[in-house]
Amino acid sequence: MTQVLLLGGTFDAHVLSNRLDAAGIACTYSFAGATQSRREQALPTRVGGFGGIVGLTHYLQAHKISHVIDATHPFAAQMSRHAIAACGALGIPLLSMERPPWQATAHDQWTHVADMEAAACTLRPHHHRVFLAIGRKQLPMFASLSASHHFLLRVVDQPDAPLLPAPHALIVERGPFQLDDELALIRTHAIDCIISKNAGGKDTYAKIKAARQLHLPVIMVNRPSLPQRMQCETPEEAMQWLRSQL
Ligand code: NAP
Repeated sequence: MTQVLLLGGTFDAHVLSNRLDAAGIACTYSFAGATQSRREQALPTRVGGFGGIVGLTHYLQAHKISHVIDATHPFAAQMSRHAIAACGALGIPLLSMERPPWQATAHDQWTHVADMEAAACTLRPHHHRVFLAIGRKQLPMFASLSASHHFLLRVVDQPDAPLLPAPHALIVERGPFQLDDELALIRTHAIDCIISKNAGGKDTYAKIKAARQLHLPVIMVNRPSLPQRMQCETPEEAMQWLRSQL
């Protein structure tokens, strides 16, 4: 019997969940519970971590999961590694759905860095006003930097105040974001550098386009590397894979 576990946390996962529901495929949609605001779901959901690889392995067995689709964010590497390990051990087919990374054009000024720590080290004293749209989790990494940098922080949920870099301005807002709005935001805050994860997709790409248009440098954090696994890019491809499995 088909019983899918969909590991979510992205807009594409939401789109796929609607497709699975419409196709009548039995599926549980799993959220980490990291954000307070969640989109309405047609599928049955579960919220919260599984308890590492061991916990996930038990969950997969207890719920007789036949297929796992990992549609987590490309930077949610721990969850993806756990899924690879647990599915590998149990012989459960696993598909990763991940949108392709953004590519620099000849008009971009990107500095590629391996992780967020390297991004913080790459900031230079002349980067006075930095747009940091990287989520809540890694903001504390910037809290110890010199107060010569002023940060514009944009997050989905209100972060813990003591962990924030000072000085800063805070915007609590969920994408998608439009180019005109990003241009206005960058101009209003006199931003001279942007730090971004290479998330891929359209929803948060407008700030990268705006940087290109305004000739601003971008410190681009590369995706974490993961072991090889079956991959696709879109919900359509994920549905095709699942149908080919049934
Ligand atoms: P992470 O570091 O890979 O995961 C940390 C832990 O959270 C995992 O070990 C797992 O706990 C739990 N977890 C993560 N995704 C889960 C899911 N879909 N269902 C159940 N448990 C889950 O991930 P993260 O970077 O903290 O991101 C958390 C969630 O936010 C992910 O679902 C991701 O898709 C979403 N998200 C992340 C980013 C980002 O930039 N990292 C951006 C947008 C959305 P256990 O070990 O206890 O199982």
